[in-house]
Amino acid sequence: MKIPFNRPPFLGKEFEYMQEAVKNGRICGDGNFNKKCHSTLQNLTGSPKALLTTSCTHALEMSAYLCDISPGDEVIMPSFTFVSTANAFASRGASIRFVDIRKDTMNINENLIEEAITEKTKAIVPVHYAGVACEMDKILQIAKEHNLFVVEDAAQALMSSYKGISCGNLGDFGAFSFHETKNYSMGEGGALLIKNPMYADRAEIIREKGTNRCQFHRGEIDKYTWVDLGSSYLPSELNAAYLYAQLEDPNVILNNRLSSFNTYQTILQPLADSGILELPYIPEHCNHNAHMFYIKTPTKEIRDKLIKFLGENGILAVFHYVPLHSAPAGKHFGKFIGEDKFTTKESDRLLRLPMFYGLTKEEIYFVCEKIHEFFKS
Ligand SMILES: *Cc1c(COP(=O)(O)O)cnc(C)c1O
Repeated sequence: MKIPFNRPPFLGKEFEYMQEAVKNGRICGDGNFNKKCHSTLQNLTGSPKALLTTSCTHALEMSAYLCDISPGDEVIMPSFTFVSTANAFASRGASIRFVDIRKDTMNINENLIEEAITEKTKAIVPVHYAGVACEMDKILQIAKEHNLFVVEDAAQALMSSYKGISCGNLGDFGAFSFHETKNYSMGEGGALLIKNPMYADRAEIIREKGTNRCQFHRGEIDKYTWVDLGSSYLPSELNAAYLYAQLEDPNVILNNRLSSFNTYQTILQPLADSGILELPYIPEHCNHNAHMFYIKTPTKEIRDKLIKFLGENGILAVFHYVPLHSAPAGKHFGKFIGEDKFTTKESDRLLRLPMFYGLTKEEIYFVCEKIHEFFKS
């Protein structure tokens, strides 16, 4: 048996919708399928404004423009995240203040944020790791007290929620990813959620190369022109059509993944009970989307041996992230504030097991059987 780490989601209607886009005679951005995705995302999350983008990285870059990040500003985020979280803000001249994560959820430790705030701080960027929400009540309260933006890196968190509110719609801006490794995909792509409609017009301008083309198309102005900074952040209709086939009924993918997650959890629980492994922790008030199933081994050495053992048995399991503060660019553009108690230690122990739409029970049984076998010897 060969089990990949990921298979891109494909439900069946993707080609039909892509053909429809071609027949519509419009394959550039903001046609019918872009619009259908926008309204579906707004309905799913409760956000007043959703815009598809060419990636989550680009949605984060748009947020950095919308927050008016400029050289000298500081932005607070965890070091345990993907490079794009930091890059989007560093590219606008911000210096990054990394704070430690919580051991249980691997999310930013909300109690360490305040000591990283200075008079230069402009934004907090919580990352909902594995689709499990950060402690947003506390984070939003700190942001309010210090007059800071909150930009959610919700790359992994579509269909997750915190106390009943959708991830991505908790902060000022929220960024989703539709990369092929995420729950819902268009190959490469993403979306930006905007909580305050006051920012909607500017977001459309930034996404359309700094022009007011969207207002022109709606007939609100009689010619369009260059009015602001921006780039080309809107995806083609072909990609939007592929995505729409999955967003139409998001529960198909969600329920399939939750079932895989629960199967892993049930079979690996005995190893957790005997203290050999740690399994993901989901706080009571968080609904998650089963983006990931990870385990934590007692040490890095054991983790690396387990990766090798699973590989020899045809199973691809992977780890991430190299903490950003220890990466060359992280040292240049950022700084770790306080003590690195968990970021490095916990990321060294973490291992992600195969998880994708359509993963079979037999495949999960096989992966778990091999993990049990590994720990017996
Ligand atoms: C996947 C991911 C991104 C980047 O998404 P892209 O769509 O590939 O740009 C950013 N942040 C996190 C936490 C991610 O998991």
